Amino acid sequence: MPDSVELLQALIRNECVNDGTVESGFESRSVETLQEFFNNPGEVREKQRGRGSLVYRIPGTDPAAPSLMLMGHTDVVPANPDGWDVNPFAAEIREGCVWGRGAVDMLNLTATMATVFSQYLNGSIPPLPGDLVYLAVADEEGGGRYGAQFLVDEYWDLVACDYLMTEIGQPRVMTPTGPYYPITTTEKGPMWRKLHSQGVPGHGSQPYGRENAVIDMAAAITRLVQSPAPVRISDEWRAIVETGAFGELSEMLVSENLVDEAIEILAATDVGLARWVHALTHMTFSPNIVHGGVKSNVIPDSTEADVDVRVLPGHEVDDVDDHFRKALGDLYDRIEVVPAMDDYVANSSPSSGLLWEAIGDGLQAVEGTRDRFPMMVTGTTDSRFFRQRGTVAYGVGLYEHTLKPSDFAAMFHGNNERVSLESIDRTERLLFETVAAFGRRSAAG
Ligand SMILES: [Zn+2]
Repeated sequence: MPDSVELLQALIRNECVNDGTVESGFESRSVETLQEFFNNPGEVREKQRGRGSLVYRIPGTDPAAPSLMLMGHTDVVPANPDGWDVNPFAAEIREGCVWGRGAVDMLNLTATMATVFSQYLNGSIPPLPGDLVYLAVADEEGGGRYGAQFLVDEYWDLVACDYLMTEIGQPRVMTPTGPYYPITTTEKGPMWRKLHSQGVPGHGSQPYGRENAVIDMAAAITRLVQSPAPVRISDEWRAIVETGAFGELSEMLVSENLVDEAIEILAATDVGLARWVHALTHMTFSPNIVHGGVKSNVIPDSTEADVDVRVLPGHEVDDVDDHFRKALGDLYDRIEVVPAMDDYVANSSPSSGLLWEAIGDGLQAVEGTRDRFPMMVTGTTDSRFFRQRGTVAYGVGLYEHTLKPSDFAAMFHGNNERVSLESIDRTERLLFETVAAFGRRSAAG
């Protein structure tokens, strides 16, 4: 399917790098690429100059039928070429793969979705019963303020949908009873926190008895990471374990008391797998930025730290603050803990219903099996903005059968990100078959 490959290469070469600042991204370059690809101007919305998102809506034949959206983001995270074997923005094809930043996150899907959608847009396939919508969205990697959140808040009529397919599509999982295909239904919730400590400035040559803000902060961070993180065995986690992928460890992995021991057993042979299991069974705390002090000979009077906190389904805001209080102990009175951005609880869509069944049909057509299971991911995607409006959203994709889930995960925001031509072809066929099945099922239902 050369269309998707060439489009993917063009999107990578547009280098829509989003470093979190308003001036970065410049996704309007990819809006233009897609307008040319579709030979149709579509509807462009931008909150900020250069941060355009592009929408197409093909009206359905039955106003009562449910609508389906295909959504891909066009921005990517920065890439440091020093760690790469190729130029991360050249989109070279080597060893059967397209290499470049965005190859799996998620320009592969943005491109294959466009190829499937274009056949409906140009009329070579008749419209579905419900509306079919394509959205190429800006600023996913920066939190969606100039993209999905903006569109959902300001232009809901334009982007409204009952069902949504987007990232993260994941490689199949081998189990003793055969392969299972993960469909992303659930995301952990980010509840980032900023920590502040205060001290009294003075001369660094006389440290005795000082209130040094760095010492408090160092102690607070140490306590936070050494305190056992809250465990939670969610229904989503149970569904993953029930595939049988963990064999003998299954029982321990769904026990609140034994899961940490099981993670240590896994870590002995596969620390990447252990890390993933830990994140899907615990509220996690990762202190990722610390700033403090101004000069080598001045006692620091203030510090700031950023902690990336991720919560599981069932966790609330209070649970996060409770943990900080417990972990910091007497330091909690001296360290200010405040939200670093909007809090999001975990969000989820049910593993049943029209689109879930249509994806089963798609898998049956392409892979010869309907064996899929609901997957929880540790990161966030734009799905959360749509789920808040009642949309059923899934992350869907297919990869070559030899791709290991841990190798796949390492490529997200990592070095040497690449996607095989085989994966692109499989994903395109899955999306094509799923959209068609969604149409058939919504006509019947
Ligand atoms: Zn992404």
